[in-house]
Amino acid sequence: MIDAMKFISGITGKLFGWYFIFVLIFYGTVFILYDNIQQMMKISENIINRNYKLSSASKNMIENLLNMEENEKKYMVLKKEEYLNYFFSAQKEFEKSLAEISEMESKAMEVSPNWKAIKKNYAQYFSQAQDIKNIRSAEKLWIPEHAINKWIEQISLARADNEREIEIANMELNLRGQLAVRSGLIGLGISTLVGLLGGMMLAHSMVRPLRELLNGIRSISEERQSEPIRIRSKDEFGELANAFNEMAFRLKEEQKMRSDFISMLSHEIRTPLTSIRESVNLIAEGIMGAINDRQRKFLEIASLEIGRVCELLNRMMQVSCLESGAFNIKPCPLTPDVFVSGCLDQIKAAAESKGVMIEADISRNLPDMMGDAKYLQQVLGNLLGNAIKFSPSGSRISINIEPDGKQLIFTVSDDGPGIPEEEQAFIFNKYYRAKGVRDHQDGMGLGLSITKHIVEAHGGTIWVKSDEGKGSTFGFSLPKAGE
Ligand code: ADP
Repeated sequence: MIDAMKFISGITGKLFGWYFIFVLIFYGTVFILYDNIQQMMKISENIINRNYKLSSASKNMIENLLNMEENEKKYMVLKKEEYLNYFFSAQKEFEKSLAEISEMESKAMEVSPNWKAIKKNYAQYFSQAQDIKNIRSAEKLWIPEHAINKWIEQISLARADNEREIEIANMELNLRGQLAVRSGLIGLGISTLVGLLGGMMLAHSMVRPLRELLNGIRSISEERQSEPIRIRSKDEFGELANAFNEMAFRLKEEQKMRSDFISMLSHEIRTPLTSIRESVNLIAEGIMGAINDRQRKFLEIASLEIGRVCELLNRMMQVSCLESGAFNIKPCPLTPDVFVSGCLDQIKAAAESKGVMIEADISRNLPDMMGDAKYLQQVLGNLLGNAIKFSPSGSRISINIEPDGKQLIFTVSDDGPGIPEEEQAFIFNKYYRAKGVRDHQDGMGLGLSITKHIVEAHGGTIWVKSDEGKGSTFGFSLPKAGE
């Protein structure tokens, strides 16, 4: 029972249903056509077997009656045997035709009542006048002229009835023909329409859930999470959607658990680590008692390393926070050149120690941008930090800002190793680091992920253009103030 219900609501059931309707219309049309053609065949058969026969028989009968009358008169005047023979042969022909019509009647074919009257009348005369001897010795016409005229008149009437019948049958034939053509065309039209509509509906019922699924899969691969997709159909697509939603839910749950775990871990490590750092600094500064230079040097290294671990933990926590969306940006108008020089001040020391020149030719006439300085400094700081990290010493890094419609476009270009094309789509993902740098550069692959989250939270987008071996250009857009 459940299997049958599944079959009916499934794709195969839908296809069968549609096929059934199509076949029903097709056979319905064929049946109507067949019925009309059958009727037409009956009518034409009737015309050929009855009406045409009646027509030719009645024509012969009139001719033979006229012949009989003529030869009867000639015989009466000339008394020549040959006229009598002509009379008899015409009479024979006449009777043959009359017999043909009687035969039709006996086959339950409908014939005009006039024929019955003719037959009766004729039989009356010829029971009296059929004796040849009587005929030979007859003094006057043995079939009176008025009788022949009456028969001719009756035959003509029956003939007219027959003509009328032929006319009606022809009209019926025409009507049936028109009906057949019309019903054939209507059937063809309906089956084309049903075929088209059914095809479109089937395609729609398959394409829509497929699109929903595609969007869901895309959002998982791009944003690493997806809202449940809504597919109401009870067919295989519905089952697929349920399975997908289940999978997306599990992924989301697992991701949440991972984020919670990382933030918990970071918290748990960061607090004691800060205390350790403070203690190390206090000892290094000699507050706890005198220390020698060697001890100070090692304590300073320890403080530096603890600082690095703290920074790393901060980043991990920030990613968790950005991903959960639990952060507030407070945008306010910022002047681009002031903003850039602020960032440059922070990064100057790192650039100098690597021997890299940073060029920032920022026009003072640029419109203000809208953003949260604290977060945006991190964006530019991350991009510049990467550019310095990956550039060879002695190379140049350039910063550029261009207005573009309602946005300002920032670009940071370097002459570093570049990023292989197939990896460019992944570098904004959390923890991703290009294969070529994993072994000889430190990092956790979190900077660009944080940067992307911040830019998008400001309503902007971020991208990279890079030719391997020829450097990279990172760009991002921010809204202009007042737009
Ligand atoms: P991290 O720098 O800590 O590895 P990021 O998220 O900042 O992490 O960068 C991710 C990866 O993107 C880097 O590991 C590197 O492979 C690549 N990348 C980022 N910026 C550059 C750059 N300017 N030149 C070449 N590769 C870069």
